[in-house]
Amino acid sequence: MVETPPTAANMRLDGGHPALDLVNTIYGQVGQPPEHDVLQTPEDLRTFAARVGVGHEADAAAVKAARDLRAACEAAFRDADADALAVHARAAYAAGRLEPGGWTWPDEDPLSIVHRLAHAATQLISSEDLDRLRGCNDCCWLYLDRSKNRSRKWCSMADCGTNAKKRRYVEKRRLSRP
Ligand SMILES: [Zn+2]
Repeated sequence: MVETPPTAANMRLDGGHPALDLVNTIYGQVGQPPEHDVLQTPEDLRTFAARVGVGHEADAAAVKAARDLRAACEAAFRDADADALAVHARAAYAAGRLEPGGWTWPDEDPLSIVHRLAHAATQLISSEDLDRLRGCNDCCWLYLDRSKNRSRKWCSMADCGTNAKKRRYVEKRRLSRP
């Protein structure tokens, strides 16, 4: 079955956090090479940023920086290696302004989206929410498990959860055949 690849406008935002949704702009299966990258053009980045609430301006340099930051977030949240994220955080805070209420970045700075995402990632890795960080059992996505008993196994029950259930059902039928 050929499926239309997801876009920044219609990809699911199941990460529960902008930094995890950024990591999830790559599609694929656990242990396999990436199948599809949602962030290709400045328009993709603008659309994604607007959906996760980190701004509206982006150019080609911002796309490159966002992909670099995405790799840094992968390392930080998948492999607990935050060195590259720290480099992005320093750049973000050097370009930003601290005011009562928090850090701000001017909208006319084309990297403001990337700075806000770096700030969000820095907050997440410093927060207790990190205990809730999970990797989907089916695809390669990361998400925060906000379920009460912290037992969520998939990024989305409607998608990967159902896929896994379908597969189990098919396997069972296969096994039960004489
Ligand atoms: Zn999944």
